[in-house]
Amino acid sequence: MTENKPGKVTMEKLVSLCQRRGFIFPSSDIYGGLSACWDYGPVGVELKRNVKESWWRASVQERDDMVGLDTSILMNPRVWEASGHVTQFSDPLVECKDCHQRWRADDLKENKCPACGGELTDPQQFNLMFKTFMGPVEEAANVVYLRPETAQGIFVNFQNALNTSRKRLPFGVAQIGKAFRNEITTGNFIFRSREFEQMEIEYFVKPGTDDKWFDYWVEERLNWYYGLGIKKENLRLREHGKDELAHYSQKCFDIEYNFPMGWAELEGVANRGDFDLKQHMEYSGKGLTYLDEESKEHVVPYVIEPSAGVDRSVLALLCDAYDEEIVNDELRVLFHFHTDLAPIKVAVLPLSRKENLSALAKDVYADLRPYFMTQYDDTQAIGRRYRRQDELGTPYCVTIDFQSLEDKMATIRERDTMNQIRVSVAALKDTLQAKLAGEDLFVLPEGGVIWKEGD
Ligand code: ATP
Repeated sequence: MTENKPGKVTMEKLVSLCQRRGFIFPSSDIYGGLSACWDYGPVGVELKRNVKESWWRASVQERDDMVGLDTSILMNPRVWEASGHVTQFSDPLVECKDCHQRWRADDLKENKCPACGGELTDPQQFNLMFKTFMGPVEEAANVVYLRPETAQGIFVNFQNALNTSRKRLPFGVAQIGKAFRNEITTGNFIFRSREFEQMEIEYFVKPGTDDKWFDYWVEERLNWYYGLGIKKENLRLREHGKDELAHYSQKCFDIEYNFPMGWAELEGVANRGDFDLKQHMEYSGKGLTYLDEESKEHVVPYVIEPSAGVDRSVLALLCDAYDEEIVNDELRVLFHFHTDLAPIKVAVLPLSRKENLSALAKDVYADLRPYFMTQYDDTQAIGRRYRRQDELGTPYCVTIDFQSLEDKMATIRERDTMNQIRVSVAALKDTLQAKLAGEDLFVLPEGGVIWKEGD
């Protein structure tokens, strides 16, 4: 009998595993942390980079109608006047008159404090932008903001991107970068933090074709998540009601994920119309139009914006890939990450620390490292080491045993099935490369053997 029962993913399990295995730590932990700020550890940074890389590949590299930008976090404060953020980017803040906790009024189901049931103050609009000062003098004239979204860096560069890339409508600009919001209520791990990263596309289209492109991008973005292995039943679309729409938005769909705390926004796809370009034309006095070759007229393009959060994508992918099962009466915890996302692709595990075995294993490790993010581990029993790699979501472990010294063969063990095959050391790199690209690992050469871990 086993005491361990496989269970569902919970936020507590994730937070603890992420900390224990080096995915995510509370920021400035040794000083007690900083509210709603997080640090990505040695494994987490790889996962996050892979998410961004996959998005960039799908949004820029594999398309001929998109280019990328990397714009600065600090921008001329006029940008935020034009965009409406100075006057409109706020949430209604209420405070409990008894316990003084603060809440977002639009998050509350009832008009009393969720913590103590106390009476609440009337809502006050609270601007979410972080302010700082540029230069040595802290005065109003020197106020600058940490950008609350990456989008505006794209709008103000519309003409630069258009002229230098020589794209024609419809075309888009993609950007990945940090954004900052002084959120009233935070929480749910990395779901809502005060410093986070966005992956945003501004896709410029001819007015009148915007509905078609809106539908296109909703589909395209859903497919990106499905392609990374997110289960269909865990994603859904939710259309914003008229009262929910942001000041710039004509239409907006949230792509929601079924997080452990419930369905919540993973990404927003909005039709921003010509709001932003027109505002920037008015405030900057510069032309941000497109010369339509057919009509010979200058048009202000409409914009479809798929705006995703890097951290929320990481959280959704962690939740979706998390799994528990019983193997040999013990609980096995693993992440079924898509191979493109797995932080570590290959682990090299010598069966013992004996010198001649270590030498061969280290050679194998050195050979594989230029091609894959590879880890070397020679501590503890092999079973424990497999479990550790399972918790990192490593798709393949390569085991070097005493037989390897004789026959120059190594064992490859696959994470999800725990199937093992034996291939020549010389063929390891090509075999792993093929497998990581999605070819079936367990098509064996003639005379080969498959067995399960533990058999
Ligand atoms: P919410 O309603 O959850 O506050 P939002 O509608 O304000 O989000 P957007 O302005 O549409 O969010 O931002 C686009 C994306 O940026 C979101 O879908 C989310 O993935 C990410 N994002 C926004 N705010 C945060 C945050 N505080 N922490 C982490 N990610 C965020």
